[in-house]
Amino acid sequence: MKLICIGRNYTEHIKELENEKPDNPVVFIKPDSAILPKEQDFYIPEFSKEVHYEVEVLVKIKKVGKHIDAKFAPGYYDEVGLGIDFTARDLQQKLKDKGLPWEKAKGFDGAAVIGEWLPKSNFQDLNNLHFSLQKNGEIVQEASTAQMLWKLDDLISYVSRFFTLKKGDIIFTGTPAGVGKIKPNDYLSGILEGKELFSVKIK
Ligand code: ZN
Repeated sequence: MKLICIGRNYTEHIKELENEKPDNPVVFIKPDSAILPKEQDFYIPEFSKEVHYEVEVLVKIKKVGKHIDAKFAPGYYDEVGLGIDFTARDLQQKLKDKGLPWEKAKGFDGAAVIGEWLPKSNFQDLNNLHFSLQKNGEIVQEASTAQMLWKLDDLISYVSRFFTLKKGDIIFTGTPAGVGKIKPNDYLSGILEGKELFSVKIK
């Protein structure tokens, strides 16, 4: 399975990193080895002095699809969730400056936190899901999927033009504003519509 990640999908986050607003979704892949095993602590890798959290709504693909029209996209997923796209920001900046791929900064071991899944039928409107990330009990990121530049179904449609989606693939749909640095002993938890879907301790 693969993790397909979207960058620059919330205007306020684009501003905070001083990026340009893209004409199309920014897409990158994390390998499956990036998944942080359940109940395991996250160890800040030795190659970075500035790892950031990025909380993101997740979608789990349930069947194979290619060139999916956005209006049929709901037929390709039953579950939504919440996770973290950990990013070695210092390394990413170096790579971006040189025009090189980001994979080392985003695809390293443990860089993908995947929380509990919930049936999408639990929610009235997937385009207005409220979610937040708490760090040591304080809210550091808070947003709604209503603020996305490209909605869940648009993203599924767009990425399926390039990658065949397979059962079990997960889409990270981009982070809102408020990203920040982690340090040892931080404790992060992710909440979707009032329900905690993951927690992770930083080492
Ligand atoms: Zn991200």
